[in-house]
Amino acid sequence: HYSQAKFSISAPDITHLGPDEGIEIAFAGRSNAGKSSALNKLTRQKGLARTSKTPGRTQLINVFQLDENRRLIDLPGYGYAKVPIAIKKKWQRSLGEYLQKRESIKGLVVLMDIRHPFKDLDQELIHWAVAADLPVLALLTKADKLKSSNRKNQLMMVREAALAFCGDVTVDVFSSLSGIGLENLEQKLDSWYGYERKVK
Ligand code: GDP
Repeated sequence: HYSQAKFSISAPDITHLGPDEGIEIAFAGRSNAGKSSALNKLTRQKGLARTSKTPGRTQLINVFQLDENRRLIDLPGYGYAKVPIAIKKKWQRSLGEYLQKRESIKGLVVLMDIRHPFKDLDQELIHWAVAADLPVLALLTKADKLKSSNRKNQLMMVREAALAFCGDVTVDVFSSLSGIGLENLEQKLDSWYGYERKVK
């Protein structure tokens, strides 16, 4: 079903996301974390989410429609050094508000490079989500960059660190390149969206 994703709208901010109904799941992460690649992998569409954007440019929230009731929300990447502090602050405030007030959001996927977890806004985002009783999937991206043993160690360390959030925070590894973790990601999204899993 994720291959049925279609671009719906680009919104300049969270107030332009459209009616607060149905189910939406948001994807967030530091710029270059591999968010676009992950969305393209998930939807089996190479060009759905735009990769390699120009740093520092104003970015839009992209909405992808899965069906009448379900949407994927691609939040702008954060962490660009060149973005003025006032803009960063404004964006953080609206992001916090979005996570707390939006009824239709049912889960947050936070993508972090497996080699550099918990940078910039990563922790704050997870805190806000937990405070809003929103389940979080922390996805450690580019998992193919580490050898299997290092990958397991890193996953264990991040899981350990994630316990501190005291909320519904799941940590998993992911690679758009190798497909590691795709099945787990789909299962998590299915449960949040209320899709029935087909028994294989
Ligand atoms: P975004 O800014 O978070 O949307 O990140 P992108 O998806 O544009 O990816 C940023 C860079 O990381 C690009 O050069 C991608 O080719 C690379 N990348 C993304 N996912 C993976 C992955 O799973 N493995 C590897 N090795 N590189 C990746």
